[in-house]
Amino acid sequence: MNRRRFIREGTLSAGGLLLAGSLPLSGYSVKKPQVIIIGAGFAGLAAALRLKRKGITVTVIESRNRIGGRVFSHTVGDDLVIELGGEWVGNSHTRIRELCEEFGLPLENNQMNTHLVYKGQYHPAGSWDYSSEWRAKFKSILEAYPNLKEADKRTLDRYDWWRFLVNNGCSGRDLDIRELLDSTDFGESIRHVSAFAALAEYAESSEKNEMDLKIKGGNALLAHKLRGEIGMEHIHCGHHVAHISQKNRVEVTCTNGKKFTADKLICAIPTFSIQRINWSPGLPSPLSAALNELQYARINKHALHFSERFWKEEAFDLVSDQSPHYFYHATKNQRSKEGVLIAYSVGDKAASNANQTDEFLANDVFRCLEPHFSGIRSLLKGQANYYWGNDPYSYGAYALYGIDQWFRVMPELKKKFLHTYFAGEHLADWQGFMEGAINTGEAAAHAVMG
Ligand SMILES: Cc1cc2nc3c(=O)[nH]c(=O)nc-3n(C[C@H](O)[C@H](O)[C@H](O)COP(=O)(O)OP(=O)(O)OC[C@H]3O[C@@H](n4cnc5c(N)ncnc54)[C@H](O)[C@@H]3O)c2cc1C
Repeated sequence: MNRRRFIREGTLSAGGLLLAGSLPLSGYSVKKPQVIIIGAGFAGLAAALRLKRKGITVTVIESRNRIGGRVFSHTVGDDLVIELGGEWVGNSHTRIRELCEEFGLPLENNQMNTHLVYKGQYHPAGSWDYSSEWRAKFKSILEAYPNLKEADKRTLDRYDWWRFLVNNGCSGRDLDIRELLDSTDFGESIRHVSAFAALAEYAESSEKNEMDLKIKGGNALLAHKLRGEIGMEHIHCGHHVAHISQKNRVEVTCTNGKKFTADKLICAIPTFSIQRINWSPGLPSPLSAALNELQYARINKHALHFSERFWKEEAFDLVSDQSPHYFYHATKNQRSKEGVLIAYSVGDKAASNANQTDEFLANDVFRCLEPHFSGIRSLLKGQANYYWGNDPYSYGAYALYGIDQWFRVMPELKKKFLHTYFAGEHLADWQGFMEGAINTGEAAAHAVMG
């Protein structure tokens, strides 16, 4: 089964159940369940919106003092908005695009033209590429993808993307550049990524690999619009769920002593947070084992605020083989002389960068860029850093499906547990994306209503 079609069919069949469940039975009125949702990220908010629109009472419980979760828009200077979490909306991400349209949130082009710094040499966008042999080979690999059988996909899932590339003749500079670019997507070295997960991503994504759009004014605006319709009074921020008891009904207890009860629960939080909750009865052992296995990608976003956009092109991004790893213009389309460049590092580089001072990180950036862009040091106005590897709720940016995990671990994580339905980006066909979070939240809402 196609990776994307998997969840769409899951969603449709849940929708079918919903239709059947909401048909009026003669002489009876169907009792609507009360639902608690844990997590006010895009998955939890999308679930709450769906349920609210069906007239179902929802209570959303959120640990942080803000909504949006891993979507984290941040203002720099007077009015420049950057994303410290989820950034790009893909052209193929239909649900998030539909929601933006419905709520009147314009999406702006956020595609970039990639420059390269490799072995000390600078290559402007358009002047570098893979070898013609590797380009032809990779094109043929992508073209063959639709013909893969289920068994072929499972075989691919049993080894890593680096091995797959090597086995297919990728070597030397081509392999180095694939590692740099693809690890930016997955947040860790491609030696840790399932070959199936990676191939599916590249074969099924838009031309720019879903790095296409961004919500004008910040992606968090969508969370605010969702909250507006769900109703502020139904969302409890600053409430951290510590205990969940499931008997005839569900009882949720927060660390501040507040208790909530309902018929059903949607648990839309990252796997680390699921494990930290005290569940009564305890989580089934296959679910516990799956939670123990899944890792999340370590990403560090270091934002550098400059008094001038020395990079000149609005659509500037640059991948390097040095420790800042990947740079992109984070204030594209925002009118100002000033601008923000985000240095985006992954894996071990991210963990190391997260422990350094701003001064140290800025020096790394200058070491990488100054030979090619002169006089930039004096333009630096300020810096901000967020390391997702230490985020207390996810301990990573998004789930990282490694060897033999896509077909074995994800199905365990998706299973309903008594009154509890799970949602979140880690369960999505569009895994690792805001779109995936929304898809799973909506699917959980359908399942609850069924
Ligand atoms: C650095 C980075 C870059 C990214 N880039 C992109 C991108 O370019 N494009 C894209 O589409 N996506 C991107 N993503 C991924 C995207 O942001 C996520 O897939 C999505 O936001 C996850 O939503 P979610 O609702 O599943 O989880 P979350 O957003 O994590 O929401 C879960 C919520 O649950 C809360 N919570 C946890 N435990 C508890 C508890 N015990 N009690 C109460 N509340 C709790 C958390 O505080 C959180 O708010 C990126 C993410 C990061 C971090």
